Amino acid sequence: MHVVDLRSDTVTLPSDEMREAIARAELGDDVFGEDPTVNRLEQMAAERVGKEAGLLVVSGTMGNLASILTHCRRGEEVILGDQSHTFIYEAGGISALGGIHPHTVPNQTDGTLRPEDIEAAIRPDNVHFPRTRLICLENTHNRCCGASLRPEYMAAVEQLARRHGLAIHLDGARVFNAAAALGVDVKELAQHADSLTFCLSKGLAAPVGSVICGSKAFIAEARRTRKVLGGGMRQAGILAAAGIVALDKMIDRIQEDHDNAMRLARGIERIDGLSIDLARVYTNIVYFDVACEGLNAEELARRLSGRGVRMLSVGPMRIRAVTHYGITAEDIDFALHALEEAMR
Ligand SMILES: *Cc1c(COP(=O)(O)O)cnc(C)c1O
Repeated sequence: MHVVDLRSDTVTLPSDEMREAIARAELGDDVFGEDPTVNRLEQMAAERVGKEAGLLVVSGTMGNLASILTHCRRGEEVILGDQSHTFIYEAGGISALGGIHPHTVPNQTDGTLRPEDIEAAIRPDNVHFPRTRLICLENTHNRCCGASLRPEYMAAVEQLARRHGLAIHLDGARVFNAAAALGVDVKELAQHADSLTFCLSKGLAAPVGSVICGSKAFIAEARRTRKVLGGGMRQAGILAAAGIVALDKMIDRIQEDHDNAMRLARGIERIDGLSIDLARVYTNIVYFDVACEGLNAEELARRLSGRGVRMLSVGPMRIRAVTHYGITAEDIDFALHALEEAMR
């Protein structure tokens, strides 16, 4: 059966070119710094985002964790959004492994944190309080419908951070989606953060991996932190080879995913019993609601699955669909047809 899997952009399979690159990759022991393919990927990634150095990690979660552990000591505080991936979906790793105190401020619907809320969350120098060290932003914002943070907003948060002597980490799991949606070079977003993590394994379709980018000194420290976390990989060029193809070939096609997301959203808007806000379809993530009697999100997802379309039920009435490499406009039409049938 033809299956259109829209649960996440993490379900992408490597392209033929990636598989060939994996087979041919020149390898060495990366813990000795001797894997030429890893070294090349890290350098390419850093250049692409306009930072001095890069570090390959297993996942976006490890990238955020290693970065935050590198910025903060035990008992120090990080300011982050109450809807952020790091706060909600990373198993409390910064507290569990780093003794780092998360201070949440509300995410606005567009993924931003209000500068006045950030400012109010910064601790004065007082023996009662943890020391504030870091601000984390997320771009695009996963739970805020894949919204992009604009360079001007990031610049404003950077100025605020500098005024208070704080660092900024950007969870840029989908930062290339943000750059495509805003029509800016990714460097314009990255320049406002001291460190950023982006995923090779989401919209860029590599099988495994994320890259942390930052200054040479920061990445040298993060390399130690990665080792502590058990993330020192050996012939990791096997993974990096696919990452190089991802950086070369997958960034320029991201707009196609955004077009498909909008095509899906427009189709959903026309289906009775479903409710969607088109103004909140920003990039490749589409959230919509079941809005009819006697049906909920889980049941609709089950009906879709029986028709070869997979979407994620993320709330009693809420469904998420994510477009990605391998999904065509025809697949979107197939999914819309399945949705129409499932709603009958
Ligand atoms: C997916 C995601 C991550 C984590 O990436 P994994 O590779 O799944 O660990 C981090 N932040 C955001 C915003 C994400 O969407």
